[in-house]
Amino acid sequence: MIRYGCQSIDDADKAAVQAVLDSVWLTQGPTIGRFEQAVASHCAVPFATAVSNGTAALHLSCLALGVGPGDAVWTSPNTFVASANCALYCGAKVDFVDIDRATLNLDPAKLADKLVAARRDGCLPKVVIPVHFSGRSCDMEAIAALAREFGFRVIEDASHALGASYRGTPVGCCRHADITVTSFHPVKLITTGEGGMTLTRDEAVGKRLARLRSHGITSDPALAEGEWDGPWFYQQIDLGYNYRMTDLQAALGESQMKRLPQFVARRRALVRRYREILQDLPVALPADDADDDSAWHLFVIRVAAAHRRAVFEALRAADIMVNVHYIPVHLQPWYRRLGFRPGDFPEAEDYYREAITLPLHPQLSDADQDFVVATLAAALARLG
Ligand SMILES: *Cc1c(COP(=O)(O)O)cnc(C)c1O
Repeated sequence: MIRYGCQSIDDADKAAVQAVLDSVWLTQGPTIGRFEQAVASHCAVPFATAVSNGTAALHLSCLALGVGPGDAVWTSPNTFVASANCALYCGAKVDFVDIDRATLNLDPAKLADKLVAARRDGCLPKVVIPVHFSGRSCDMEAIAALAREFGFRVIEDASHALGASYRGTPVGCCRHADITVTSFHPVKLITTGEGGMTLTRDEAVGKRLARLRSHGITSDPALAEGEWDGPWFYQQIDLGYNYRMTDLQAALGESQMKRLPQFVARRRALVRRYREILQDLPVALPADDADDDSAWHLFVIRVAAAHRRAVFEALRAADIMVNVHYIPVHLQPWYRRLGFRPGDFPEAEDYYREAITLPLHPQLSDADQDFVVATLAAALARLG
């Protein structure tokens, strides 16, 4: 079976987890800080908070920016549901901005139009969550310029984009965002089993995120309200959660971070190879990434909508676990109940009807890739 995405665990990764098992601290120990430091230094950003998963990272990020009832949060419809659900958890309203046909990312021109209309109607968003689909950064300079003009905050969903760069800076550096989040689910760029992280340059936001991860509790007397009873004392000053990552997971993550550059290099090499061996087939390939900036979490091709299902089934029948990223979030039943309808975001819907995610991960061999392409070519030839 060839999976669309898959972790790579080596002996050093296993030894790192074993070392934590043999230590005193299975959770709330020193490995968490080391993993946070490894990601922060890769991303050139000062404050990192490891959490239990990427969804928790999104939820805490909304809370840390003060999202609540009466607020609006906008994101891309071409994403995993968590990018939108995080705002609903906070009691806010969600809306979407349609994607750019080439990059498949939230389109800054459509965002600008929607902001002008929202300003007129008095319903500007508090937060916009651009999603770096497939590992390619959104146009963050354009989005940050709009954030300044219209006064919203920005959370980058970089679940696909750890290891990517944007105009010479690492994705995650938060030059154009208040917070960046990422995920360490096994299909993502590195894994901790389950896991996620928030990154920020804003020290106050960073402290708030760390506190919200652990029940909203502080043991810093400087933050005390009233008397500080003694050295045993702590206070709950926010309503937080237990969204902690374990040290077992952090050890795996710290070890995986050393391998991130190789993982991304292998993904980029596989993408170059896909482009070569797919060039004569009647499929649309992802837009060029001339600067090799994308982390290439996903490799999505587009086939004629009328053939998508047959092609998908032919690949699955050959034990090639292709996938589709993404069913537009606004078409999910939960979101339809909130009033969204087919036709609301036509680019995302058109793209969805044609998309197939081919296997792409560091463990994929050239021979696996040849088999995927041969199976795809045979299916397309049968369909004529
Ligand atoms: C994976 C993913 C998430 C959620 O991450 P989990 O760690 O699975 O909670 C959020 N947004 C996007 C775009 C993702 O791909």
